[in-house]
Amino acid sequence: MIILKTDDEIELLRQSNLLVGRTLAEVAKIIRPGITTKQLDKVAEEFIRDNGAIPTFKGFPNPYGLPFPATLCTSVNSQVVHGIPNDEPLKDGDIVSVDCGTLLNGFCGDSAYTFTVGEVKPEILELLKVTKEALYKGIENAVHGKRIGDIGNAIQTHCETHKYGVVREFVGHGIGKEMHEEPAVPNYGKRGSGTLLKKGMCIAIEPMITFGDRKVYLESDNWTVRTRDNSVAVHFEHTVAIGLDKADILSSFEYIEQVLEEKN
Ligand code: MG
Ligand code: MG
Repeated sequence: MIILKTDDEIELLRQSNLLVGRTLAEVAKIIRPGITTKQLDKVAEEFIRDNGAIPTFKGFPNPYGLPFPATLCTSVNSQVVHGIPNDEPLKDGDIVSVDCGTLLNGFCGDSAYTFTVGEVKPEILELLKVTKEALYKGIENAVHGKRIGDIGNAIQTHCETHKYGVVREFVGHGIGKEMHEEPAVPNYGKRGSGTLLKKGMCIAIEPMITFGDRKVYLESDNWTVRTRDNSVAVHFEHTVAIGLDKADILSSFEYIEQVLEEKN
């Protein structure tokens, strides 16, 4: 069942999602070669709790009932999603996808951003650029009267035109009082197919795009998803509300990108 949200509920979702954006900006401030993903996680958890919210990923069970142990998913290089923060220092040239979820005033925020660490190869920067573009092309289709397949098709077409892989095994989702609600929002699909989009639906759109082959596997920690060919992967995610003429983006990269601009 798809739960439609009222305008008031959408405002609460926005507040939770803006907190995610501000949390990711705290990560942006300190990310550099030598820092560990565990250090990033600590800063994020404190910031979320200081703002009266709960980190929703912490304790969230996977299909085996294993709870996620951290606030952030930190997926480095060939890790695609659901990486667990650890004590390994990030290195010059790495990329790290940071996914963050909050529960604030009963509503969930969910957004992800892929960061560069030091000097990253131009072909990897291009993958980041194209994946983010694909996210916004998906969002352009998150409009009343279109269908879920229109979103996936826009993302898939843009990424495959650039010869990148579109991960199939993990998808976006409806979001509200629960982090994962219906419908599923794949990053691939046929135009005009799938669930009809209606004003009041709120969804997380989250392309997971690989430099090489799209095939992935689950690591032995039963959380981390990695590319089979060990090529790098990128993940950007926004939570949006379906609008009559255009989508309302409830999360924000603006806080993050302001910090990144000031750092450069
Ligand atoms: Mg997420
Ligand atoms: Mg999500």
